[in-house]
This record gives sequence, C-alpha cells and structure tokens, in this order.
Amino acid sequence: MKTRAPNPVQTGIATAALGHRMATTADWRLLWKFAYNFGWKGMRSVQRFKARLKDGKHFPPFLHISITNSCNLRCQGCWVDVDKPQHLISFEDLDRLIRNAKSHGNSFFGILGGEPFLHPDLFRVLEAHPDCYFQIFTNGHTITDKTAKRLRRVGNATPLISVEGTDIVSDVRRGREGVLNRTLAGIENAVRNRLITGVATSVCQSNFDDLVREEWIDRLIAMGVHYVWFHTYRAVGPDANPELALRREQVRTLRRFVMDVRNRKPIAVVDAYYDDKGEALCPAATGVSHHISPFGDVEPCPIVQFATESIHDNDGDLYKTLTESKLLADFRKTAASATRGCVVLERPDLLKDVVERHGARDTTLRRGAMAELEAMESRPSQDDPGFEVPEENFIYRFAKKNWFFGFGAYT
Ligand code: SF4
Repeated sequence: MKTRAPNPVQTGIATAALGHRMATTADWRLLWKFAYNFGWKGMRSVQRFKARLKDGKHFPPFLHISITNSCNLRCQGCWVDVDKPQHLISFEDLDRLIRNAKSHGNSFFGILGGEPFLHPDLFRVLEAHPDCYFQIFTNGHTITDKTAKRLRRVGNATPLISVEGTDIVSDVRRGREGVLNRTLAGIENAVRNRLITGVATSVCQSNFDDLVREEWIDRLIAMGVHYVWFHTYRAVGPDANPELALRREQVRTLRRFVMDVRNRKPIAVVDAYYDDKGEALCPAATGVSHHISPFGDVEPCPIVQFATESIHDNDGDLYKTLTESKLLADFRKTAASATRGCVVLERPDLLKDVVERHGARDTTLRRGAMAELEAMESRPSQDDPGFEVPEENFIYRFAKKNWFFGFGAYT
C-alpha cells in the first residue's frame, strides 16, 4: 500500500465511511451494546484502573480468559495444549470470576481457547452477563448460521475470527485441510447475521506478503468485516517454528501499513502494542491486561505459561489474588525495565529469572514450558526506539492518549 502523508480530510472521510458501514450492516442493538458495555463502561473501567494504580493496586480492566484448551486445529506457534484431554473452566468458576471483576468496574472480557465455541457453556456465560462485552477469539469453524443467530440474540459479543493466509498457507499454518474455506464460511455467517465482526492475523513470514496488503483489506471490507487485528507472530509453544517470526523491518512495515489503513480505509484496525505517540508497550507489563489459563491459572499473558496463583485462591476472590500476586508484580517490573516491547521475544532469559525467583509452576499439561523458554532466542518485537510512528488518526490518538498507554510502567 503506497504510503501517503496523512490527510485529515481523507481520514475524516474514511472514518465517516466506517461509521456508515457499521450503521448499515450491524444490528443496532448490538452496536448499542458495543458502544455502552465496551465503549462507555470500558472507558470507566480504565479510569478505575488508573485510580487503583495510585494506591499501588494492580487489577487489570481487561482480562483475557482461555476457557478451554481443546481445538479442532493444530496451528504452528500455538502454545495451548490442544492435543491433550479437554479442560474447561466451569460455568460456575467463570461466572464467579466475571462477577468479581465486575464488582471492581470491569465490563470487557477477551474469551480465548483453544477454540472457545467448543465450550458447552459459552452462551450461558454470555447470557448471564448482558451488562458486559465479550470479544471471542475464534477460528470461525463453529460459527454456523444457527450459532451466528444465537450470538445476535445475546448481542454482547463480537467474534474475532483468525485468518492465517491463503488456502495453502492456512492449511500449513493450521495443520488441517480446507481451513480457509471453513473460516470464510464462519465470517459470512457472522456478517449475514449483522454481528460486529473482526478478523485477526498472526502476521508471520508465510502470510506477510498475502495479508499485509491493500487488496486483502479491500477484500475484508467487501466481505462486510468491521475491524481487523494484526498480531505479530510469537515463536512459542511446542511447535514454535521460529523461522516464521518477523524481522525488524517487517514489524516497521506492518506498523506503517496499519497507519495507512486507519487513514484511508473504512475499516477499524485494532492494536495493543503502541500508545498515541507510537511508543511500544506490552499490555501485561503495564498491567492493563492479564490472563487466566484453561486450568484457572493466573498468568501475566497467554504465552507466559507459568503461575503461582489460581482463580480458586482466596475463596475465588480474583481481585485479592491478582492485587497480591508477587509473580505478576515482578513480571511487570522486570518486563518494563527491560523493554517496552515483548519480554518473551526479546529477553526470554529475564522471564526465566522471574519464574525461578518465584518458583512458578509450569501451567501446561505437556510440562514443556521451561524447556521451550530455555530454547528461545532473543527476537525483535514492537519496541523500536527511534522508529516510533505516532498515531495519525485523531480517534485512535485520542482513545490511546486517554485509555491505552504505559500507565506509568515505563517511567
Ligand atoms: S509479554 Fe509479549 S505476548 Fe505477552 S502481553 Fe507482553 S507483548 Fe504481548
């Protein structure tokens, strides 16, 4: 995509066109739930997070919960025990931790797996918390027309459907056949049922040229997709494939591409790696987000599979468990002092030190997390001093300036 200097008029037109697309393709009740439960209440949850920080209390406004380990795919770079017996966080435990977080002002939850739609009580959780908003990280294979209709009825969730490349690349990346067609069918069902629909990609060597390009963005817009999220491939897990990891100049190209799409295309682009000034950040190091594993372990983030606490500690008082966690506090301090980027990619050695300092347990069923960590080499991540690209689109700049930045972690 040819880079052009940001043009406020063009950015305004693209933003207005996105608004028009949302209003004419998504169910208005769902747009209201998104605006209120995620937008308004999400903003207030960050305000409460900031107030807690002043008292030295770290409880994240955004929790990511892996509700099951099982999945129908076998992706390269997946850190989850997808080939092991199925584990589910029970409805009762999910309900309790969501209620606990809500009582401290939270309203947004990221739902991960494995494949979340394989959890038999997923809809029960969504229906039990109509005052919350859920982003469901899914491969889309289980989003049938019936499932999409049910998502529309409950109204408080957005499917974020992962696409990892063209037909052939998708099959290789995801370890099955016919992957892309099934994913595209899931996207189609979501869009047809007027859901707020997102597409995510873990950008790596095998899909960079196909997906970090204007034609792919135009195709997503034509498919009716409302937002896109480009993650950077993390070479982790039992099948890490480090050769897929991005080189520094590719990370820079991706950042520039995201800016250009935000300036010129009627589609939203999410990222969780940069603040309004374009300075890098790690959501776990800032404490704005932490993770619950499929086994109920409290982890800094999904790919850091070590813990000293679980959701069952303190009679299920998640707030007490997280605010008193010495492991989380040490992880945040160590990560933030080492890099504004991803400590797992850049300094796996320091992460190993944190784990050993607290005697943190390996939370995987394969019991391979430490060996995988020890095998990791340092790689570039989003931290790229001197090459910062400040947010050019006024809406992203305003939102990040107020509700998504370093929160004092990097001072
Ligand atoms: S440690 Fe890395 S993968 Fe985890 S939240 Fe931070 S940047 Fe993301």
